[in-house]
Amino acid sequence: MPDPTSLPAAAGLAATPDAIVIGAGPGGLAAAAALRQHGVRPLVLERAEQLGASWRGHYDRLHLHTTRRLSALPGLRIPRAYGRWVGRDDVVRYLEQYAEHHSLDITTGITVDRVERGDAGWELPATGGRVLGSPVVVVATGFNHAPHIPDWPGRDTFPGELLHASSYRNAAPYAGRDVLVVGVGNTGAEIAVDLVEGGAGRVRLAVRTPPHIMRRSTAGWPAQASGILVRRLPPRLVDRVAPYIERMSVPDLSAYGLPRPENGLYARVLDGAIPVQDVGLIDAVQSRKVEPVAAVERFEGDQVHLADGSQAAPEVVIAATGYRRGLEGLVGHLGVLDGRGRPVAHGSRTPPGAPGLFFTGFTNPISGMFREMAIDAGRIARAASRISR
Ligand SMILES: Cc1cc2nc3c(=O)[nH]c(=O)nc-3n(C[C@H](O)[C@H](O)[C@H](O)COP(=O)(O)OP(=O)(O)OC[C@H]3O[C@@H](n4cnc5c(N)ncnc54)[C@H](O)[C@@H]3O)c2cc1C
Repeated sequence: MPDPTSLPAAAGLAATPDAIVIGAGPGGLAAAAALRQHGVRPLVLERAEQLGASWRGHYDRLHLHTTRRLSALPGLRIPRAYGRWVGRDDVVRYLEQYAEHHSLDITTGITVDRVERGDAGWELPATGGRVLGSPVVVVATGFNHAPHIPDWPGRDTFPGELLHASSYRNAAPYAGRDVLVVGVGNTGAEIAVDLVEGGAGRVRLAVRTPPHIMRRSTAGWPAQASGILVRRLPPRLVDRVAPYIERMSVPDLSAYGLPRPENGLYARVLDGAIPVQDVGLIDAVQSRKVEPVAAVERFEGDQVHLADGSQAAPEVVIAATGYRRGLEGLVGHLGVLDGRGRPVAHGSRTPPGAPGLFFTGFTNPISGMFREMAIDAGRIARAASRISR
């Protein structure tokens, strides 16, 4: 990869690439590859020292919940040797192979601070006072950009260890310890299971809204494939049918403190909550190795107060409480974000008054983000090739 210092300096915008992609995760790499396939020369800027930084930082046992075949990015299959559910290290290996296969021009160690309107279309002040320009910019800085821990009252009085799930690697540091995992999305559910298997002394799982739980695969049919089919159906129909399927495939865990959800599966997806794919949670709850408890309300010293009035005194709290998009500083001043900080347009559409400014990876679809980013990449490239011509 080129040395960042070889980038064109503020005065030297002559080397303006046809397009600049911000972020070398799967979304940015897919967009860059598709742009190249459409004859557009993209430069990818990545703030970390290596591409695929988010995946390098995920916990050790993580595997894609989406299948190898349905997670491939445009123009390169994921090797069969990586298995049906690709592990974290193989995802990173695939991203490296992908960048090499498509001869992508990636500069690492460069943070783009802001996207500004400029003579070349867009100007990007970046690390070290450099300014780069291009008529096309693809923002691919990640849905899971900035770890978020709720501002629980009394949080700072907790004498134990409080960390975000993004800092969790494996169970080793928690062997024999009393741990409260907060949040039952896919990450919280899997970390709770990992802690049990890794010998934590006690594992509780704080649940605000009971999740929809799906088997990752039933008789060989992946849950992701159902997710893809479901996207074509009216949400109300899905919400009427889903409870029957859930009852057939997932046992009732109410007696263990995890009731069935009251709101519809698709209604929750539209609200941003993807169903939890079971990678051991059901067994762990049924064997009472993971104890569901009520949501966290506040901290008071070593006591964590829960929404049902009970208290817990864990040694460690792991907040699997999600991420923020973190787009405000980058593009907030352009009026291209909605009230939740998400881009008002994504894929091939650009926000009103912002031609050439594309976003990828800012939705959380039930059909799998790798798959959607792969589809968006082609659409963005087609639209961008019309601009940079
Ligand atoms: C634990 C976990 C498991 C997941 N499992 C799956 C799965 O099984 N299947 C699936 O389809 N999806 C999954 N996803 C969702 C999604 O596919 C991944 O989050 C994926 O990494 C998103 O790709 P991305 O390129 O949009 O963002 P990222 O991978 O986060 O990449 C964004 C890149 O942009 C860089 N960057 C950020 N800001 C700047 C800046 N200002 N300047 C320069 N560079 C910047 C970052 O360093 C990073 O490298 C999972 C997500 C998580 C958190």
